[in-house]
Amino acid sequence: MNINVPQEPNAATRQLVDPFQRAITYLRVSVTDRCDFRCVYCMSENMTFLPKKDLLTLEELDRMCTGFVDLGVRKLRITGGEPLVRRNIMWLFQSLGRHLESGQLEELTVTTNGSQLARFAKELAACGVKRVNVSLDTLDEDKFKAITRWGNFSKVMDGIDAALAAGLKLKLNAVALKGVNEDEFDTLIRFCHERDMDLTLIETMPLGEIDGDRTDQYLPLSQVRADLSQRWTLEDIPYKTGGPARYVRIAETGGRLGFITPMTHNFCESCNRVRLTCTGTLYMCLGQEDAADLRAPLRASESNEPLYQAIEEAISRKPKGHDFIIDRTTNQPSVGRHMSVTGG
Ligand code: SAM
Ligand code: SF4
Repeated sequence: MNINVPQEPNAATRQLVDPFQRAITYLRVSVTDRCDFRCVYCMSENMTFLPKKDLLTLEELDRMCTGFVDLGVRKLRITGGEPLVRRNIMWLFQSLGRHLESGQLEELTVTTNGSQLARFAKELAACGVKRVNVSLDTLDEDKFKAITRWGNFSKVMDGIDAALAAGLKLKLNAVALKGVNEDEFDTLIRFCHERDMDLTLIETMPLGEIDGDRTDQYLPLSQVRADLSQRWTLEDIPYKTGGPARYVRIAETGGRLGFITPMTHNFCESCNRVRLTCTGTLYMCLGQEDAADLRAPLRASESNEPLYQAIEEAISRKPKGHDFIIDRTTNQPSVGRHMSVTGG
């Protein structure tokens, strides 16, 4: 055997590294822009959704995700809109589960509003999903109705119970909303930590037109942290989930509390992720408009080579970071598309 023959670079030896030497190992995939809720900070009540014909089929989403896994992505998060309302979505989880079995993929996760979890928790666990993020901003049923507009609180509670019973590790994500849930963080901490769930607080981001004024809702987490530390002992810990949250341990409960602070603290320097929409558009940064169309190269050929090249070209354009601002002088979203399009 001649060991000096130069090898063609193939997918297995490629790696996605951006111009700032950040390895891209995490893909978030929005499988639908539709949702059964209408959260006030996320959508307007009368949303216009994409025509169904523009969506990638589940088979195409599978091929797309597999292309990224071939290029070194180790963590996939399925999100939306509400991912669990997409018809036959369990097929995609089952299919992607093969990459967990082969060891190519380290983690397959999902972010959900919890409305369909009672139905799907066991199946998700059977597909190899171990951790689920549930978005829940309040434990007060009336406030829940006011925030989600269309949500059913008891269905979400049943979903959380079912997911815990199925052995899934849960993390609750709550958007910090001034004058809405700022008096509830203590209750949320207790609720989560009693159930061995992490809690992460998120600042509202200026994404997409909504019906209200975001300056009214924005609550800096630096302020929340200062307030919490008057009643709880917050110990900084190096815990990382591959996401942008910074964690503390609360000495009194032993549980973890994360802070995602895109507005008050820029976390871009360690960004390892990109986001794919349900139409096959790749956004290299949540806070920037630049994007790459991956649907055309996917459909152009049965070979994955055009797709690999389009992904690599897109990563070579990944920007250094975002520049969100919420203030009364701009009063415009920094980015026109909604979180439900790019996938939170
Ligand atoms: N429907 C699912 C859910 O709610 O978990 C997944 C998609 S949702 C867009 C993902 C996350 O984005 C949710 O935790 C939601 O609270 C958050 N989100 C939506 N709009 C946001 C905004 N403008 N600023 C900050 N977080 C936002
Ligand atoms: Fe739907 Fe999630 Fe947006 Fe709420 S945050 S409207 S649940 S996509």
